[in-house]
Amino acid sequence: MERVLTPEDVAEVLVPRNVLQARVRELGARISSDYEGREPVLVTVLKGGLFFMADLCRAVDIDCTLDFMAVSGYGPASFGGVVRITKDLDEDITGRNVIVVEDIIDTGLTLNYLLGVLRAHGPASLEVCVLLDKDVRRIVDLPIAYRGFSITDRYVVGYGLDHRQYLRNLPYVAVLKEEAVR
Ligand code: 5GP
Repeated sequence: MERVLTPEDVAEVLVPRNVLQARVRELGARISSDYEGREPVLVTVLKGGLFFMADLCRAVDIDCTLDFMAVSGYGPASFGGVVRITKDLDEDITGRNVIVVEDIIDTGLTLNYLLGVLRAHGPASLEVCVLLDKDVRRIVDLPIAYRGFSITDRYVVGYGLDHRQYLRNLPYVAVLKEEAVR
């Protein structure tokens, strides 16, 4: 049986808690000023985006609503980013100002697919707010309105991101020791 992962398995903290929180507050302030009077709906994909969404929406001080999607086959291995939606949005986003709140973008294939699905609902606007961007890995070009951090091509965990479902609850973004990832 594979063992439980703990903070002991962390090799390096890539983005410390205070740096994360400060950046999330900045993104929230920018969204608040850009979307004043437009009541955006923030949409995130479970489970990874949950922590970023929870902090970001509390840093947004204008009226906004939240919605959630869940997908399976989600991840870099899924062919062309095509995923099965296992939980769809609760609200109709037609004519709404939608901001997709993502934890991390790697190749961009998954998000590209999801944006296509959301666009088909006819939102008034559709933008992306991503916390961590591995831009060197990008295969499809994506318009990203709000970016937390650009990071190099390293496998990270914490602040919503898991390894085998563990370590999502780390309050910082970290790189694991090699033996933990094997
Ligand atoms: P993409 O379609 O952009 O290649 O893949 C995006 C998805 O791959 C992310 O939403 C996430 O689920 C997963 N992913 C990509 N890089 C990482 C990483 O460094 N750590 C973890 N835990 N997941 C990642």
